[in-house]
Amino acid sequence: MFEVVIGLEVHTQLNTKTKIFCSCATSFGEAPNTNVCPTCLALPGALPVLNEEAVKKAISFGKAVNAKINKKSVFNRKNYFYPDLPKAYQISQFDIPIVEGGELFISVEGQNKRIGITRAHLEEDAGKNIHESEFSKVDLNRAGTPLLEIVSEPELRSSDEAVAYLKKLHSIIRFLDISDANMQEGSFRCDANVSIRPKGDNKLYTRVEIKNLNSFRFIQKAIDYEVKRQSEAWEDGTYEKEVVQETRLFDTTNLVTRSMRGKEEAAEYRYFPDPDLLPVLLEDEMLQAPIAELPDEKKQRFIKDFGVKESDAEILISSLEMSRFFESLVAKNLSPKLCVTWLNTELMGLLKADLSIENSPVSSAKLGDLIGRIEDGTVSNKAAKEVLAFVFENEGVEIDEAIEKLGLKQVSDDGAIEKIIDEILSKNADKVAEYKSGKDKLFGFFVGQAMKEGKGAFNPAKVNEILKAKLG
Ligand code: ADP
Ligand code: MG
Ligand code: ZN
Repeated sequence: MFEVVIGLEVHTQLNTKTKIFCSCATSFGEAPNTNVCPTCLALPGALPVLNEEAVKKAISFGKAVNAKINKKSVFNRKNYFYPDLPKAYQISQFDIPIVEGGELFISVEGQNKRIGITRAHLEEDAGKNIHESEFSKVDLNRAGTPLLEIVSEPELRSSDEAVAYLKKLHSIIRFLDISDANMQEGSFRCDANVSIRPKGDNKLYTRVEIKNLNSFRFIQKAIDYEVKRQSEAWEDGTYEKEVVQETRLFDTTNLVTRSMRGKEEAAEYRYFPDPDLLPVLLEDEMLQAPIAELPDEKKQRFIKDFGVKESDAEILISSLEMSRFFESLVAKNLSPKLCVTWLNTELMGLLKADLSIENSPVSSAKLGDLIGRIEDGTVSNKAAKEVLAFVFENEGVEIDEAIEKLGLKQVSDDGAIEKIIDEILSKNADKVAEYKSGKDKLFGFFVGQAMKEGKGAFNPAKVNEILKAKLG
């Protein structure tokens, strides 16, 4: 039997306002070749100047994964030719990256596992080639966008572990807010290195690298396909011939990997320190800057401070936006229990799979208003569901307006409830006598009668309170 060996390289685009070595904007979706200047166009003589924000973001990542931050790191030129790289070299880091030796914890089927992070280094992105039928075009808007490349140790043992690692990494990056990590837009993309070996063998066998995977589902499928291809070749005796060190692409239509090119060795890039950039020397102040609360820490705090159940806390930290939504609800001093139910169950139920919380037509302010109306007895729990569904469909409508429109206001007015209760008690004098002689169960009967007379609009807490007072 085989053991699967996977190491991942993730490129995440840092969300700085400007590029890594010039002051061009990093905004996505602009007209081609408009976010460019002599530096990112690689005009002769133009000089790079390092963006401090990119450095700060790399440091906070390093701290989040317990890595060593190198006080001195170096930018190198990685030489290769491609039309989307007009300098004919990419500025990257090589032997002295800014972040080295970190770790990340994943959990797969209840098993916790530590995955080593070899390094994380800063580099610039290339432009984009756009291939059309007759000719190809180059858009250099993306050239010089800051990337953090995060390289794992070859310690992942299945596609499930690989996906768990990527989800964890994605979540850490989002909570640090160092990248929007939007996979569709390519701000978080992964190269998967995959090999197999006989169980018990500790040697690393030939790896293939599957490039530019940008969805968790495709990553899983690409790895599974590759493992199958390599295992079959081994069993057929064609391993030596079929499995060679190379770069492969995943065909998302046919769900197979295909050879793209032989894999370069580092020596072929002729790395050397970029003479235009000084080594990066970090000041203690930069190293000591605090970082944002990480997803696991947030989860523990929700459990501890708000008495949230573990499974609910898990949902609340499923995205940065979700956790922020919850935090703004509880910041209004509403009952955390109600906040969890109305967010995790009721609102999420309406959003279903098609909408994420950041596109919710009901804001946290509005959901907070609704919870407030449940707490002060204006609406019953049941009526509140109708109100939520209504404001969900009618975005401009406020909570109080909706309650009014739907006629769902509970009667909490003591006088009105008392009047009905008095009538019920006098109509049922025999039952009152029974109750007073010890038949406690009859209390429920009186409540039921009152709620029925009130056509469901009576505040049940009030009904209980008044009945208790009257029956002694
Ligand atoms: P390169 O840029 O040449 O791909 P890196 O060192 O940046 O080299 O990345 C190599 C990646 O491949 C790392 O994630 C590492 O863990 C992984 N890796 C190395 N050897 C193997 C192997 N035999 N099987 C699977 N993954 C491997
Ligand atoms: Mg690689
Ligand atoms: Zn520029």
